Amino acid sequence: MKYPALIIDKKKIEHNTSLLADKCRKNGINVAAVSKVFCAIPEVAQAMIDGGAYMLADSRLSHLRTLKELGVPKMLLRIPMKSRADEVVDLCDVSLNSEIDTISALSEAAIRKNKVHNIIIMTDLGDLREGVWYEYLIDFVGQVVGLKGIHIQGIGTNLTCYGGVIPDANNLGKLVELVEQIEKRYNITIETVSGGNSSSLYLVFKNEMPKRINQLRLGESIALGLETAFGERIEGTYRDAFTLALEIIELKEKPSYPHGQIGMDAFGQKPVFEDKGIRLRGILAAGRQDLNLSGIIPRDKCIKIIGGSSDHLLADFADCSHKYKVGDIVEFDLTYGGLLAASTSDYILKVIV
Ligand SMILES: *Cc1c(COP(=O)(O)O)cnc(C)c1O
Repeated sequence: MKYPALIIDKKKIEHNTSLLADKCRKNGINVAAVSKVFCAIPEVAQAMIDGGAYMLADSRLSHLRTLKELGVPKMLLRIPMKSRADEVVDLCDVSLNSEIDTISALSEAAIRKNKVHNIIIMTDLGDLREGVWYEYLIDFVGQVVGLKGIHIQGIGTNLTCYGGVIPDANNLGKLVELVEQIEKRYNITIETVSGGNSSSLYLVFKNEMPKRINQLRLGESIALGLETAFGERIEGTYRDAFTLALEIIELKEKPSYPHGQIGMDAFGQKPVFEDKGIRLRGILAAGRQDLNLSGIIPRDKCIKIIGGSSDHLLADFADCSHKYKVGDIVEFDLTYGGLLAASTSDYILKVIV
């Protein structure tokens, strides 16, 4: 085994998916499992399928290309680039959309390829990331109805991403109301009502999800066992499907207050120190070039991260009763941001167990 490593337990991913997919299914909701946070490693995505995800979803075309051989439909999450309409039609079965020019480009691409491309039209219910502002949604749908090569498969929304707006009976109720108005006005059936991401799950757990919402797009809840409206652990899921493992390269007793005149650190910041006397300090072999150091949490609670430079992570080991030594491996949990950075880093070995 080589370090630094990101160890991924695919059985735990399968378990988390299965627990959430079962809960959702009981409420008439299908789970599109989101693979972007682990860069769509196919074996891990397959574990999501084995756990009951009916679809895989990702923000990037490159990731969808990686997932091509897996046997479920694929969804593109990020609003497509108009310039890449051809690839969108080739690589996914459904994409989330909010721009008429892009939808027209998808229509032309689909016609050229003799295909029908499914879209979910996104509406912004107040979070201020993607989507047609809800007051203009019905008219917008009117521009899309009748476009050849395009099938309006659904209406969707995304919350708690930019504005931190929490999904509730009010805003998701509004989504359902809009769907019903659209069906009446244009005499069409909306198959999929996509009610958001891991922040919508708490409504499922409380049995308060408005009827008709029949799809959620779940990433963080599967990967980390966290619901994201309130940041709580989801009972019965694993929090530790992903483990970051780093090796200790130096472990010495040193003063906690630098000796000499203090200027700037390696990143141009003027550091501040508290003098705690002599402490046992360790250096782990990874730094800011490898990781997002604020997104990693030592599993052994006695270890405290005290800083880091490009390639060194400094930690205080003085409160540990376990006797660590050079060459030992220290394990970390990851936050969403920490996992995103570790997955994306070329310097972190990915090990699937
Ligand atoms: C990333 C993403 C998701 C998944 O969000 P989680 O909070 O990880 O569940 C869902 N929908 C869209 C549009 C996304 O970009």
